[in-house]
Amino acid sequence: MIHISLPDGSKKEIARGASLLDVAAAIGPRLARAAVCALVDGELRDLRERLDKDASVTFYTRGSLQALEVLRHTTTHVMAQAVKRLFPTAILGIGPAIENGFYYDFATEQPLTPEDLSSIEKEMRRIVTEDHPIERLDTALEETREILAAKDERLKLELLDDLEEETAVLYTQGEFVDLCRGPHLKRTGEIKENAFKLLSIAGAYWRGDESRPMLQRIYGTAWESKKDLDGHLENLAQIEARDHRKLIKELDLVSFHEEGGAGLAYWHPKGGRMRVIIEDYWRKLHYEGGYEIVFTPHIGRALLWEASGHLDFYREGMYAPMNVDGQDYYIKPMNCPFHIMIYKSRTRSYRDLPLRWAELGTVYRYERSGTLHGLLRVRGFTQDDAHIFCTPEQIEDEISRVLDFSLNLLSGFGFTEFSVELSVRDPKTPEKYAGEDPMWEQAEVSLVRAIEARGLPYKRMEGEAVFYGPKIDIKIKDALGRAWQLTTIQFDFNLPQRFDMTYIGEDGKEHRPYMVHRALLGAIERFYALLVEHYAGAFPVWLAPVQAVVIPISDRFLEYAQGVVDELRKAGIRVEANFSTGRMNAKIRDAQLQKIPYMLVVGGREQETETVSVRLRTEEDLGARPLAEVIAMILEKTEARSLI
Ligand SMILES: [Zn+2]
Ligand SMILES: [Zn+2]
Repeated sequence: MIHISLPDGSKKEIARGASLLDVAAAIGPRLARAAVCALVDGELRDLRERLDKDASVTFYTRGSLQALEVLRHTTTHVMAQAVKRLFPTAILGIGPAIENGFYYDFATEQPLTPEDLSSIEKEMRRIVTEDHPIERLDTALEETREILAAKDERLKLELLDDLEEETAVLYTQGEFVDLCRGPHLKRTGEIKENAFKLLSIAGAYWRGDESRPMLQRIYGTAWESKKDLDGHLENLAQIEARDHRKLIKELDLVSFHEEGGAGLAYWHPKGGRMRVIIEDYWRKLHYEGGYEIVFTPHIGRALLWEASGHLDFYREGMYAPMNVDGQDYYIKPMNCPFHIMIYKSRTRSYRDLPLRWAELGTVYRYERSGTLHGLLRVRGFTQDDAHIFCTPEQIEDEISRVLDFSLNLLSGFGFTEFSVELSVRDPKTPEKYAGEDPMWEQAEVSLVRAIEARGLPYKRMEGEAVFYGPKIDIKIKDALGRAWQLTTIQFDFNLPQRFDMTYIGEDGKEHRPYMVHRALLGAIERFYALLVEHYAGAFPVWLAPVQAVVIPISDRFLEYAQGVVDELRKAGIRVEANFSTGRMNAKIRDAQLQKIPYMLVVGGREQETETVSVRLRTEEDLGARPLAEVIAMILEKTEARSLI
């Protein structure tokens, strides 16, 4: 007999070799019917698996995330079966469940087309309707090899060679056999035929190895009900419509150029306008918040990067050095050593601290070309960086301030839902970390107090701290409910020591200052991508690159229209004139596509009464208004940084 520990603390005794299904049945018939899979000693298992030793077991029933994962994993097998029916020479790669869906990789003679996807989907529905039982076979390695070799599954054979166990697990459904650990549903008919969909085809290297042939990866999604599927597809459509890579092109904001180099952003006049607004606001808040703004070089001598340790632990992220007067210089991947140089330019007293120095510092880091993604992952970017240097007594107050500062800055851009991750060291291996124990303890206490005082939800991540200090990361939620990590507040017990930074304390002796790195928006480029997606390009008036466009209904009113443009411009409003010869409706449509907040239409009546007819990008019509009133309205929204 073996003992099974259950989540409620109770134990069940069952015969050695019993299956998880037997365990569920021993607990109760209702669980036996509803269970889909089980977590056994931390691993998700198929209910047909047999237990040969004591274990702790948690069952998952339909409706749980784990059950959804099993459903998706089973659906990918059904897809593989359909592919093999339609393309008998296709060779199986791997097919896991992923967040919200699944994929399977195949080696095919010809690339698959979108038309193939719909015929595969049709065949999948047939397999679901055929309702094949899904059988699990624990098979000796040699026998498994023969079965796979007979089917010419050379990629699966490769996986088999890496197995350390003595038996392999095969699953069959109808004529289809696959090497897989599971877990799976019990029958193909448990998949709802109207609750899955194939989404796309992409190339993928076998086992991620660029020297191996490219496989065809089919992505799909599967849900418990058609309603869930439809909700997910709607969400995907929203994500696609808001994709910043599409919008920055359509709205003429930012571009990338293959001939200029991958991952390097070009800011066009309208993107540039917005960037200046973002940066000006950032600078204003920093001065108000007791920061000073510094500027430092883009390159620095190797000496600096040796002292900082970057050449030891970050070299692969840095570009090759350039030789100047016999010295190696590196393009900066970070701003920290430069701010430390400023700190060390004179003797610092405790009376000078805290020092808060911020810089919109442009850095360059090597990212593999496959990971580049629009403005979200680039090779050159501007961090909204700052370093805080303070005494140990000041640290708690400083952490508190910087947290408030971050939340205030982010909510200014319309983000109000935050969550925090606190990364602390692994208490079992204190020797792996720089800095003394009391420093880590104090740092952690000040971080926790600051988070809790603000009632922010947070997750404590033990062992996730980097070796030089604990940190907090703040995530925001965007309009689609997606979480994005922006702010990082990071202690550093390493650099002050490496650069031998000191201040003269009240006791007249030298002390080591505390150093905190913080970036609130993260990188301007990435933050900008997020803004574009959050607002779907329809930016609040204060951020919009063009706030108003003036549209005369015919050439006869050009002079009045020009006067309106001049008045707006004089008031500091970002205005465009559309004096082209097109039809008025086409011009309004164009302004709507450009998501310009105010369209000011002028004709005879407006000219006579010194008014403009105001239309909003939401298609709302405010009618004719005195020009002065419209100017006041736009200015008021701008100055208040109104989000609507
Ligand atoms: Zn499987
Ligand atoms: Zn730094």
